[in-house]
Amino acid sequence: PEINLAAWVQQSARRHPDRAATLYFGARLSYARLFEQVRRLAGGLRALGVRPGDRVAIILPNLPQTVIAYYAVLWLGGVVVMTNPLYTPRELRHQLADAEARVVVAFDQILPRVLEVASEVGLRHVVVTSAADYLPPPLRLLYPLKQAAQRRHQRRPHPAQHPVAPSRPPGLQVHAFTRLVRSQPLDGPHPVDAREDLALLQYTGGTTGTSKGVMLTHFNLAANCTQIQAWLYKLEGRPTTVLAALPFFHVYGLTTVLNFSVMTGSTMILTPRFSAAEVVRLIERHRPRLFPGVPTMYVAITQLPDIARRDLSSVEACISGAAPLPVAVQESFERLTGGRLVEGYGLTEASPVTHANPIWGARRTGSIGLPWPDTDARIVDPATGEPLPPGSVGELAVRGPQVMKGYWQRPEETAAVLRDGWLLTGDLAQMDDDGYFRIVDRKKDLIIAGGFNIYPREVEEVLYEHPAVREAAVVGVTDPYRGETVKAYVVLKEGHAVTAAELEAFCRERLAAYKVPRLFDFRDELPKTLVGKVLRRALREEAPPVQE
Ligand code: ATP
Repeated sequence: PEINLAAWVQQSARRHPDRAATLYFGARLSYARLFEQVRRLAGGLRALGVRPGDRVAIILPNLPQTVIAYYAVLWLGGVVVMTNPLYTPRELRHQLADAEARVVVAFDQILPRVLEVASEVGLRHVVVTSAADYLPPPLRLLYPLKQAAQRRHQRRPHPAQHPVAPSRPPGLQVHAFTRLVRSQPLDGPHPVDAREDLALLQYTGGTTGTSKGVMLTHFNLAANCTQIQAWLYKLEGRPTTVLAALPFFHVYGLTTVLNFSVMTGSTMILTPRFSAAEVVRLIERHRPRLFPGVPTMYVAITQLPDIARRDLSSVEACISGAAPLPVAVQESFERLTGGRLVEGYGLTEASPVTHANPIWGARRTGSIGLPWPDTDARIVDPATGEPLPPGSVGELAVRGPQVMKGYWQRPEETAAVLRDGWLLTGDLAQMDDDGYFRIVDRKKDLIIAGGFNIYPREVEEVLYEHPAVREAAVVGVTDPYRGETVKAYVVLKEGHAVTAAELEAFCRERLAAYKVPRLFDFRDELPKTLVGKVLRRALREEAPPVQE
């Protein structure tokens, strides 16, 4: 099928020209205007030499410009490389060089870092935009003053602010976004072979290893959106309002918020950086019905001091993914909104959603729910790849229209995870008799101590039961006798105290001896990825081998 995803912008502009595509601090971008800006920016990028199949990196937080740039690149047949605007030069270098992106659309605050790596990675054009570019005139004028005031109050510079601005390398051209969107509009969309042509090169979270480029086609991304629609069947694809708290530079927000909203002609409430207090204000003001998120967002909102007096009643349906959703959070968030919050599961390699609990039907706590429509899932033996009977713990494998084409320029890594159409997820899971799935842990985090398998998550859950424990992460550290031994990193609640011996005794009452942590390390915080996943890898790397 020749479906260029960007055709959705055209379709929504025809059906609902005056509806807001985005709301951003009082600035409203209608679908008609979005469509025009997309075609004009596509024309501008074309004039810079971008051709179908070329990779264009977008390094922006959630702004109206992000929506315009994303569809403009697709409109001309290019491949988007969504990039985190908080990346350091080292991370930028890896991603831009690996993707061979010659053109980037970047946030002005990250420009110094882009310039720093530009000549090494062979960049030719940088299109720059500021958070103020799409603000209404009075706010746009005030923006530089607000920024200057913020800088005066900051003790440490924000990571996005560079102490010295490197000069522009020769051969690199810098363009203003606001000028480029005034270019001659490009006719289109460029016809694509939806099953073959890439829409997105999305780098994995890097939680377990080097970040790899995941090749997602127009068809993959379109399929995952259609699956959301089938899952949310009560809305029947009618336009609605969606809170865009998830970043668009991660495929979870890109699919569940950006593509889904544009497909259905819905309005996105943009917020460039997650703040629980700001999100609550936006919910009260714009009354979104959908709010896809990650557990840390729902936790932060439920813990706001005045939350019981706030009105979140517009929120009807929320899917939580990326990490386990604690039952207590699910319950308190549902009490606050009167809507449904259910756990789902996915991974970049699957555009990303493959499972979720039924949003209106029977959900199961502690479970990621059922495979989505058109998605097959099974549990296989991690060593042989053979399917295992219900109830067994094994590797979760999935198959469906949302599964990636492969890793960018990594045929061996692709062959290791894609077998006969099945994607091996790297997660250990279990299927109940009636087809509901549970994630046990990541295959890479499995600890093998003295021949026994230990799932860190099981040990962490026990630690979480202790009244003094706020957060816990468990990793395996090298041990000369047992191969690995269990080490726990613990963050205590404020005003609480507990000793390592007390925690060990607590675990001993609740776990078999081989699972009990032998080492405890008390911390003020745990290293996390931007979407709030604990980086067990970082903890493992810092742990020196145990001397006995
Ligand atoms: P990398 O693949 O580079 O190590 P990553 O795994 O963080 O990074 P993502 O694709 O962003 O990359 O995340 C997918 C992973 O998130 C899944 O493989 C799974 O381990 C985890 N995950 C997603 N949803 C859930 C959930 N509901 N419960 C537990 N884990 C989840």
